[in-house]
Amino acid sequence: MQSPLYCATMRNFVTPEMADVAMQAARDVASLYPGTVTLALDGNFPFFTGFPLLPHLSHDDGTKLDFAYFYTDPNGNYLPGQTRSPVGYWAFEHRGEETCPPVRPTLRWNMGWLAPLWPDRPIDPDRTSALGRALLDDPTVEKVFIEPALAADLGLQSDKLRFQGCRAARHDDHIHVQLAPSS
Ligand SMILES: [Zn+2]
Repeated sequence: MQSPLYCATMRNFVTPEMADVAMQAARDVASLYPGTVTLALDGNFPFFTGFPLLPHLSHDDGTKLDFAYFYTDPNGNYLPGQTRSPVGYWAFEHRGEETCPPVRPTLRWNMGWLAPLWPDRPIDPDRTSALGRALLDDPTVEKVFIEPALAADLGLQSDKLRFQGCRAARHDDHIHVQLAPSS
């Protein structure tokens, strides 16, 4: 987990299958780039299926998990275990802004007032791409949400790559993964 806060607030629960997917993806990235620390963000609450983890309406059954991007210092050196924002979310890459017209209501927050607080930490494209690839290649993964322009920049292509739509939370600050719903 990116922060002990996720555990303290019980936002880190997933099914055993999702845990396996996360562990295997982390191993895949670390085998390509030794020393890489893959960080999970919001999972699900440990309550009954259908209990949503706000503000992620879909995180309600243990088959959804978010991952942080990897970041470097301003010189391009990988920063193990560190994110750009203190919680992993909301440090938006601002790619593909033109994709969405301003619609209301929307969960596509910009959090622009927070942006000046973030340190200068460029995304690590190699490691982030490797994580995306590992998740997309996992046969148990059904969908991966990354903002389309960013996915293109990372060289990711797959039928599993989806755009969440303009009213949903944006995905240029984290990777969202979901398995097929359990029957
Ligand atoms: Zn998510």
